[in-house]
Amino acid sequence: MISELDVIVIGSGHAGVEAAWAAARLGRSVGLCTLSRETVAHMPCNPAVGGTAKGHLVREIDALGGLMGRAIDATGIQFKLLNRSRGPAVWSPRAQADKPRYAAWVRAELESEPNIHWIIGRAGRIVLDAGRVAGLALEDGTVYRCRALVITTGTFLNGLVHVGREQRPAGRADEPPSRDLAQSIKSLGVRWGRLKTGTPPRLARKSIDFAGGVKSGVFHVEHGDLKPVSFSFTSTMSPENTAVCHLLHTTDRVHQLVRANISASPLYNGQIAGIGPRYCPSLEDKVMRFPDRERHQIYLEPEGLDVEEIYVNGFSMSLPAETQRELVRALPGLESAEMLRPGYAVEYDFVQPTELRSSLEMHRVPGLFFAGQINGTSGYEEAAGQGLLAGINASQSVSGRPALVLGRNEAYLGIMVDDLVTKGCLEPYRMFTSRAEYRLLLRTDNADLRLTPKGRDLGLVGHERWERFAGRQARYELNVERLRRSWVRVEGGARVTAAQALRRPELTLAGMMADGDVAIDTSEQDHLLDVSSVETTLKYEGYLLRQQQAVTRAQHAERRKIPETFPFERVPGLSREMVQRFAEARPETLGQAQRIPGVTPAAVAVVGAYLNRF
Ligand SMILES: Cc1cc2nc3c(=O)[nH]c(=O)nc-3n(C[C@H](O)[C@H](O)[C@H](O)COP(=O)(O)OP(=O)(O)OC[C@H]3O[C@@H](n4cnc5c(N)ncnc54)[C@H](O)[C@@H]3O)c2cc1C
Repeated sequence: MISELDVIVIGSGHAGVEAAWAAARLGRSVGLCTLSRETVAHMPCNPAVGGTAKGHLVREIDALGGLMGRAIDATGIQFKLLNRSRGPAVWSPRAQADKPRYAAWVRAELESEPNIHWIIGRAGRIVLDAGRVAGLALEDGTVYRCRALVITTGTFLNGLVHVGREQRPAGRADEPPSRDLAQSIKSLGVRWGRLKTGTPPRLARKSIDFAGGVKSGVFHVEHGDLKPVSFSFTSTMSPENTAVCHLLHTTDRVHQLVRANISASPLYNGQIAGIGPRYCPSLEDKVMRFPDRERHQIYLEPEGLDVEEIYVNGFSMSLPAETQRELVRALPGLESAEMLRPGYAVEYDFVQPTELRSSLEMHRVPGLFFAGQINGTSGYEEAAGQGLLAGINASQSVSGRPALVLGRNEAYLGIMVDDLVTKGCLEPYRMFTSRAEYRLLLRTDNADLRLTPKGRDLGLVGHERWERFAGRQARYELNVERLRRSWVRVEGGARVTAAQALRRPELTLAGMMADGDVAIDTSEQDHLLDVSSVETTLKYEGYLLRQQQAVTRAQHAERRKIPETFPFERVPGLSREMVQRFAEARPETLGQAQRIPGVTPAAVAVVGAYLNRF
C-alpha cells in the first residue's frame, strides 16, 4: 500500500464512490478509506434510485461521467418515467434497485480502477500542515499523506440509533459510529448541527400472501413502464422490468395504534433532538400532523430479486419493535407478515455547508472537501452528485486547475451546491424541481447537451461516450433547423413551418412523424431523447428564450466575483447584522450574496459599490 496519495476519500457510500471514481479517472492516485468493502454503495433505506428531481440529478451525474446512472441501468429491476402526462421539464426516471447487485456492480467498477487504493480502516483524524490538509490518521494510528481529503461519512458522525426507548450509538443499523473523526472535524472550529432520518421495518417475503392480497383487493400491483427508459446516456439497450411492487393503504386501526403508543416514540417524547426530513415524514408524523387524512399509501418493494427482505415504503418509524410488529400486522393483507428487522431513527452530526466554498472545499482548510449526508442532505442521488463534484474538485485542486462550479442555470447539481453553501441547512435538504428558477432549461432529456462537454473538458468523459454524444448533438442541431424549414398544413388549411405547428398544444412531434408530416434523423438507441429534445426546444421556444434572457440578466451579478479576503466589516453603511450574515456565508459572487437569507437588496448594492473600489 502506498502511503502518499493525491486524494483520500473517507467513506464509500454514494458520495464516496463517486468522489473516488472521479478523482481516479482524472488521473489522481486515490486512497478510498472505508470501514468495509462489504458496505460499498450500500443503500440503507429505500431500494430505489431517481424520481422527481432526483432523476434529474442522476442524469446529470451520468452526463459528467459519474457512476450512478450506469449502475442502476445494469442492476435495476423495475423502471418508470415519472410525470409523463406533464411537461418534459418534470419527466424524471425512477427505478427499483436490486440492492446487493447495485452495490456489487459499483464495487467491481472501483476495483477495476488501478488508481484506487483501498484503505480498510476507521478514519480518526485529519492531519494538517501549516493550516492545510496533509494527510489522514486512522484510529489505529496509521498515517497516510495526501494533498486533498474528501470526507463523505454520511450519518456516522456521533450517530445514535433509536428504536422506541432503546438507544445505541451507531452510524446506521448495526455499524458503530465515528466519534474520533467527529471530534477532529469539530476541532477545526466549524459550525455543525444535528439531524435525524429514519427507515421502516423489513418483512419476510415468504410470509406475505401477495396473490391473496391482490385477489381480495387490498393490494394493487404496480408494474414498470411497458417501454422502460434507461438513466445513462451510454446505455445500449432498454433495461428490463423483472419485479413488481404492491400498493396498499393504512387504515383507521393503524392510526389508532400509532396514537395509542405515541409516547413511546422517541420523536414525540423528547428523546430525539435532531430535525428530520420534512418531505419524508415518519408514520408517527403522518398520523399526528395530518389527523384528517383517512389513509396513507404504503408500497411493498423488493430489496432485490434474490433478497428475502421486503421494504415497507411509507412506513418509516421508530416506535418500539413490539409496537412495529403489531402495526405491520394491522395493515390489510399483512395479518401474518413476519417482521425481520424493526424500523429505526438515526440522529447524527452534520457540518453546516455554509462552511464550504462552491467547490465543496472548506473555506478555512485548503484541501479539505465534504460531500453527501455529512453536508446536511438526504438521499442517495444528492450524495452521489456532491461526491462527484467533490472528487472532481479535489483532483482539480491537486493539479492547480480551477474548480468546476456549475451555475443554477446549468444543472440541478449547481442549484444544490449553491443552496447548501449559501443558505446552509436547518433540516435535511433534498432536491425538488421547484428549487430551480430555470426549470425548462434543466430537463432530463438535455442533461448531456448541458454537461457532457464540461465532463469532456475535465477529462472524465471517455472516447466512446464522447463519440455518441457528438452524434446526438449534431442530430439535435440539424433536426431543429430542419423543422424550422419544413412546411406543414395545420387544421384550418394554413401552411406553417413544422416548428410553428409544434407550438400548438394538440400536436406532438411523435404524432407528426407517425402521420408522415415530418421526418427527423434519430438514432435507434437515442430515439426518445432525440425526439424529446427537439420537440421541447421548438414547442417551448418562447418560454426557453425568456428563461435564457433571465439567465443573461442575472449573470451580470453572478460574474462579479467577491475575493475570499473581502473585508465586509470595512464596507461603509453595512449594519453589523449584514456583516455577520456575509461573513458566515462568505459569498463568492454578488449573485450568491443576493441569495443569502436575510440579506437586504440595499446591503448587496452597498457591497457592489464597494467592490468597484476594492
Ligand atoms: C436509517 C436511514 C434512513 C434513510 N432514509 C432515507 C430516505 O427515506 N430517503 C432518502 O432519500 N434518503 C434516506 N437516507 C439517506 C441516504 O441513505 C443517504 O443520504 C445516503 O446514503 C448518504 O450517502 P453518503 O455517501 O453521504 O453516506 P453513507 O451512505 O452513509 O456512507 C457513509 C460511508 O462512510 C463510511 N464511514 C463512516 N465513518 C467512517 C470512518 N470513520 N472511516 C472510514 N469510513 C467511514 C461508511 O462505512 C460508509 O461507507 C437514509 C439513511 C439512513 C441511514
